[in-house]
Order: sequence, then C-alpha cells, then structure tokens
Amino acid sequence: MPKIQLVAPPCPRCIKRGQLVRNLTVRSLLITEAKKRVEDIAYYLCMSSDCEVSYYSKSPNEVFTTKEVKVPIWYKKDASPKYACYCNEITEEEAFNAAKETGFTEMSEIIEFLREKVKCACVAKNPSGLCCTPLFPEAIASGLRAKQEGN
Ligand SMILES: [Zn+2]
Repeated sequence: MPKIQLVAPPCPRCIKRGQLVRNLTVRSLLITEAKKRVEDIAYYLCMSSDCEVSYYSKSPNEVFTTKEVKVPIWYKKDASPKYACYCNEITEEEAFNAAKETGFTEMSEIIEFLREKVKCACVAKNPSGLCCTPLFPEAIASGLRAKQEGN
C-alpha cells in the first residue's frame, strides 16, 4: 500500500504538525454531540502530549478536544488508562505484566495470552486509525527487562 504523501497542516492550538487520519476514524471515536460537526473532509490528529486538541480540520477550521473523544489518546499527558492496544483493550500496564510473566516478545502472543478472542478494528477504535500503539512494544520490552532482573 502506498504511503500517504499528504503533508498535514499544523494544529491550530499548538502549531505542531499533526497526522492525517481517516474520516471513519474521526466519526467512530467522537462522542455523539461532536460527531454532528464532522464533514466529509480531511481531519488530522494533534500529536502533542500537552495540547487539548484531538482532531482538527483546515477548511473549514474546526477543532475537537480530547474530551470529545470516547477513549483516552495514549500519548496525551492525562490519558488514563493508557492503551497499548485499543482493539483488544489492553493497557500499557497489562502488556507490561504479561510480558514479565510469560516472557513473550511478540504483541500477538501477548494479545492471545490476555484475551480469549483477538479482535482487530483499528480504524474505528484507535485514535490514529493505525494498529496498536508504540506503547505496546515499549511495555513488552520493559516487562521482559523486569522479568530478567527478577523483580
Ligand atoms: Zn495541538
């Protein structure tokens, strides 16, 4: 699949460059009230941890806050819980503990260990629309380190 070449415009609040997301992702994750403001245009995800904006658009200028999103966005500073995998609702802490307990190194192994049924619905469940989050491999790595150190 070709990589999207579109350069995202900066977030209107923090002026940092965001990331293009699918319209379906925005519609799936906004609370009902906010969803009424969504149009068939391009939306971007603000990637700053200390900015209250979740999604924004360029024309017309529209901003959605993190409070208007149904799930906490993992890299925002007050996100709780921090999800490693949105589809299977696995938190960073669960991933850490599972890696520490089992020694599994792969995300798929950890998901299968923790969940009876493995689901994948990133487009509708992950705020970025992409699979899992960078927290997952990080949690596994630190869980494995903790296992080695035996604490
Ligand atoms: Zn921002």
